[in-house]
Amino acid sequence: MKILCELWSALIYFLFPPRCPNCREIVDERYQLCAACEEKTLRVDLYSRPPAPIESVLRVTKYRGGSRDLLRKLKFDNNLSVVPALKKILDDVSEREEVLQLLKGVDFAVPVPLHQERIKERGFNQTEKIFGEWLTKKNLPLRNFLIRTKATPKLYDFGGAEREKILADAFAAKERIDLRGKSLLIVDDIFTTGTTCKECAKVLKSLGAEKISVLAFAADFNEKN
Ligand SMILES: [Zn+2]
Repeated sequence: MKILCELWSALIYFLFPPRCPNCREIVDERYQLCAACEEKTLRVDLYSRPPAPIESVLRVTKYRGGSRDLLRKLKFDNNLSVVPALKKILDDVSEREEVLQLLKGVDFAVPVPLHQERIKERGFNQTEKIFGEWLTKKNLPLRNFLIRTKATPKLYDFGGAEREKILADAFAAKERIDLRGKSLLIVDDIFTTGTTCKECAKVLKSLGAEKISVLAFAADFNEKN
């Protein structure tokens, strides 16, 4: 029986070798990005200008190449089959010094909330799909302290100033919870201008939060081009 199983897996491996979730190049392990996509994508670094009251913003990947394609599939095509690949990227940076530093002393992780209508349309909050399990492994509780009160248009086409206007008062506390003295980590799928996270941080501050940082799966910053 065991031999049959092994033969079967060998056959599956031969017929369907693991492929890069982005470009379909053959790779060693399932859900692994190929070297070229990883080189283009992975970039764990801190944002040099975190918007107050946020103290630090760390990203895992650039919003480029592989990670952008995966996130777009998840968000716009509701394609959940890319989730394992996104989780693998997170797992791979799990023990990086920058990540460990960021998570140190954090009491709760808070996802950027979606508006009820968007949840209905998509069926899930993509940020929770990406970070949920990983945060559990890190013993960090994910708490929905925030709700999105305004159904905002998709923000991709708007510049910084317009985003500020659209997102003003777009978030509120889900309940009057006392967060005094707490250190919180906002998790977000894509960090662009930082306006969304900043608005979330303001609400968390109003609940008493002492320290707020951000972990973004993908962000476009520090890029020279
Ligand atoms: Zn690739």
